[in-house]
Amino acid sequence: MRKFIVFMILGVIMASFATVLANIGYVGNLNSRKFHYADCSTLKKMNPKNRVNFSSREAAISAGYVPCKRCKP
Ligand SMILES: [Zn+2]
Repeated sequence: MRKFIVFMILGVIMASFATVLANIGYVGNLNSRKFHYADCSTLKKMNPKNRVNFSSREAAISAGYVPCKRCKP
């Protein structure tokens, strides 16, 4: 039982790490072919299935994405 609780706590920690990592970097929209900072307000309205993650600005540009006019990544 104690082991189970430890695993639960570890799971919560890992999940919050994953959330933090997901908020670092750049996010492209498959539909509009634009990319944004991960915290751009436009992303909240975007369909999650159009979401593409980029680790750098260069990676997004070389994939053919253009910078968002609102967050100017
Ligand atoms: Zn944006």
